[in-house]
Amino acid sequence: MGQEVLTGERAQHDYRRCRDEDCQRYACRIFKEGFGQGYGAGHSAGEAKGHAEGYDEGFVDGMAACPGPHTGG
Ligand SMILES: [Zn+2]
Repeated sequence: MGQEVLTGERAQHDYRRCRDEDCQRYACRIFKEGFGQGYGAGHSAGEAKGHAEGYDEGFVDGMAACPGPHTGG
């Protein structure tokens, strides 16, 4: 096995930094797929959790603390 010569492009192709949506490299595709699923799930769960635990309460407090009229809509 000889030493593999890495070109600049190849050495710098980090799947974690790959911004090519259509990149066909295996690592890039798997990483994007996993990241997309993980982010989507986490974002949705976090949003629901945040709303359930704090939004209603905070919204009411915010309205009560605000001196402005909150009539109409
Ligand atoms: Zn890539």
